[in-house]
Amino acid sequence: MIHEHHVLNPATGEVVATVPATTPAGVHTAITRAVAAQRTWAALAPADRARLLRRFAAAVDSRTEELARLEVTEAGHTINNARWEAGNVRDLLDFAAGGVERLSGRQIPVPGGIDLTLLEPLGVVGVIAPWNFPLPIAAWGTAPALAAGNAVVLKPAETTPLTALRLAEIALEAGLPEHLFQVLPGAGDEAGNALVEHPGVAKIVFTGSTRTGKRIMAKCAESLKRFTLELGGKSPNIVFADADIEAAAAAAPLSFLDNAGQDCCARTRILVQRSAYDRFLELLAPAVASVVVGDPADEKTRMGPLISRTQLERVRGYVPEGAAAIRGSAPEGPGFWFPPTVLTDTPADAPVATDEVFGPVAVVLPFEDEADAVRLANATEYGLAGSLWTRDVGRALRVAQAVRAGNLSVNSHAAVRYWTPFGGFKQSGIGRELGPDALAAFTETKNVFLSTEA
Ligand code: NAD
Repeated sequence: MIHEHHVLNPATGEVVATVPATTPAGVHTAITRAVAAQRTWAALAPADRARLLRRFAAAVDSRTEELARLEVTEAGHTINNARWEAGNVRDLLDFAAGGVERLSGRQIPVPGGIDLTLLEPLGVVGVIAPWNFPLPIAAWGTAPALAAGNAVVLKPAETTPLTALRLAEIALEAGLPEHLFQVLPGAGDEAGNALVEHPGVAKIVFTGSTRTGKRIMAKCAESLKRFTLELGGKSPNIVFADADIEAAAAAAPLSFLDNAGQDCCARTRILVQRSAYDRFLELLAPAVASVVVGDPADEKTRMGPLISRTQLERVRGYVPEGAAAIRGSAPEGPGFWFPPTVLTDTPADAPVATDEVFGPVAVVLPFEDEADAVRLANATEYGLAGSLWTRDVGRALRVAQAVRAGNLSVNSHAAVRYWTPFGGFKQSGIGRELGPDALAAFTETKNVFLSTEA
């Protein structure tokens, strides 16, 4: 059994904290407390629950700099990204708070009486988060689950527990009831597994790898536990010759280099129409070189390190020596650094072109026409996101409909916004998070019929 986790600063490799690992017995105690806290929470008037969530949002807002610095230290995110992420937690809480008093069922016309649907909280929700976006992903599940009247037990990733632990403290300071939102750091196969197996947990919200997601889905099936799975991706960035090629090339680097490519939506398969291929590459090379890689705490930095040595070795394994057509720079020395890397002349079925590398590595593949672009875009087991660049509106709509993925952007790489639903097709997941229906996903619908003939 693992007793503690060392949290490293990925930019230096130094230990910045040691966090005790929650045991399965500790998980059980937390869930028992959460069950009691949830009953009290659900019994509060909706306006009071909304007010407390707004206070939580305000408390996060006043600590965005502190949370952002913590995210830089434990996850190696650039300071500007980390500030956005802390602000995103505030926004998610505010957005969810706005839903508490609008979470309505329906009145359905039926003969002989009145029919109502009630949206009841599920109970205790278990959120299992990955290390790549520790702050926002912790809040994606937590904010709407709390707003819909549930308690939340969150297990952060082993490598990045600090921001989540701080969020739980902030929730208490803001006046949320004790044990309503608990954070349990620990190992996936111990604390995480205990959460998934526990009969007191009504739903698991899992974000992480497809492999772990499948194991969790199988475990949930044993007790018919509800779940959503947000899993991996290998998203295409499709550039048609009729697009604004300058704009497409300027936007491409950060679509796979942001967060050092450790982004489930990273556009790591750049598909370019053959007639624009050479021009696009000519423009892409200086755009990649201009991305500042280095100390994530420096305001000018656009890309920081990878999360760990394991991840660094994994990414290295995908890039044969001398294979890169375009290579940016990265610091030497301690920390887990890998330079921006673009590969051309790669077979479309090579592992680097099909696997989720989760590093700053993209392949560029040529295509002939629209049908070929759609075929290549869909030639993946994943279906999370994708972008397409064209000036032809009809083509934009046709291709957006033909690509089998949950989140498509046209002439943009924007994918994850709290206003809109997010989730994957195929091996990228099941269920949707965020968006207008986020709270409803944390309820059971009960149908009640009242006879008017009795
Ligand atoms: P991971 O699957 O290894 O771990 C994710 C979480 O699951 C961690 O908290 C881990 O401790 C826990 N876990 C591991 N084994 C478990 C088990 N048996 N039972 C319960 N919990 C367990 O993933 P990771 O490497 O931390 O994260 C990277 C992955 O996350 C990538 O594949 C990425 O694409 C994916 N991701 C997806 C989205 C999305 O929204 N689709 C967003 C971000 C990241």
